[in-house]
Amino acid sequence: MHYFEYKNGELYCEEVPVKKIIKEVGTPVYIYSAKTIKRHFKVFRESFSKIDHLICYSVKANSNIAIISLLRQLGSGADIVSAGELKRALKAGIDPKKIVFSGVGKTPEEIELALQTDILMFNVESIEELEILGEIAKRLGKRAPFALRVNPDVDPQTHPYISTGLKKSKFGIPEEFVIEAYKNAKKNPYLNPIGVDAHIGSQITSISPFVDALFRLKKIWEELTGLGFELKYLDLGGGLGIVYENEEPPLPQEYADAIIKEGKDLKATIILEPGRVIVGNAGILVTKVLYTKENILKKFVIVDAGMNDLIRPAFYQAYHKIVPVEEKNTEYEVIDVVGPICESSDFFAKKRKLPKMKSGEYLAIMSAGAYGFVMSSNYNSRPRAPEILVDGDTYYVIRRRETIEDLLALETIPAKYL
Ligand SMILES: *Cc1c(COP(=O)(O)O)cnc(C)c1O
Repeated sequence: MHYFEYKNGELYCEEVPVKKIIKEVGTPVYIYSAKTIKRHFKVFRESFSKIDHLICYSVKANSNIAIISLLRQLGSGADIVSAGELKRALKAGIDPKKIVFSGVGKTPEEIELALQTDILMFNVESIEELEILGEIAKRLGKRAPFALRVNPDVDPQTHPYISTGLKKSKFGIPEEFVIEAYKNAKKNPYLNPIGVDAHIGSQITSISPFVDALFRLKKIWEELTGLGFELKYLDLGGGLGIVYENEEPPLPQEYADAIIKEGKDLKATIILEPGRVIVGNAGILVTKVLYTKENILKKFVIVDAGMNDLIRPAFYQAYHKIVPVEEKNTEYEVIDVVGPICESSDFFAKKRKLPKMKSGEYLAIMSAGAYGFVMSSNYNSRPRAPEILVDGDTYYVIRRRETIEDLLALETIPAKYL
């Protein structure tokens, strides 16, 4: 569900013609729909209305501060994985008491900053991290609220790169060590165990892995409360999938109902960390056709966006729907849509049926709102694309296009090489 539609033969984002934006800011450009983000958040939130819950939007999915701020207005908290994301969340006005901090490699500096900020909870991913958290808390004279991220050994049946809750995965703490770790933590007055946590992966399109993970967490929760722990938060992470091509992910209500059914007896606030499901289908990457060419085997459309702008096809073999910005009734052909980068993995689609495109025309790469701009780089010294947020008939530049000067500004040549 999103608000990118053709009207009179051209693609609009809400009430703004995509071509109007291109005219002003050029290509490649990311365009997000505020109405779509708001709708997704509200549907998600309402799905959980029957149960005590807190939604902590996963900032890494799309971390533009305008987007975080928009979600904060709707009541969202934040799931962060770095000091950079913490600062973004704070700048966007998120209440620290709605921030959870995940990630396998938090540095002591990041832990200290988050402790001083008085965030809601650290989702701790190793026994050593828990020790460091205790030491830093002691030095600062604070009690560190934490949950252990449990590795529940559940197969989310998604791409291996976005599976995070399998035994072989680097994430979380194996179930068999968890109870012992909580018991040890209880002896340290600077550590405050307040929850349990899991996050099993991303782009998950069935309910059962979530229910399995919740079942594991519930067992741990019950064991811990039996031992006298006073827990408050059960954090089930994110991971709900979206439609890129022809997936059939559960509706938020179906997902919520399964969780509510399994979790309602616990006296817990359920924390959810959705990312992709909120922003994924709320963004597109618009690109211009530079050239077309063919050889005996293939036809290529070469566009001005590259894998540095959107890496998902190269990285995860991800499918993104691609449509012309101006509707066409030309014949279809089977083409590869490729970028300008000097890598064979620099493609957006292979053997895709698309209307015949000409140089100077525009394509929209759909479902690029999550893990799109945030994963972009400057490879090949390409300035990053701007980000535009459309709201109704208005659009805002929420991140300007980088310039080549921006890239060079961070570098210096030592005198001896001048
Ligand atoms: C990435 C991540 C999320 C969000 O995942 P989505 O699939 O985008 O919903 C939530 N929690 C943690 C800990 C993550 O690493």
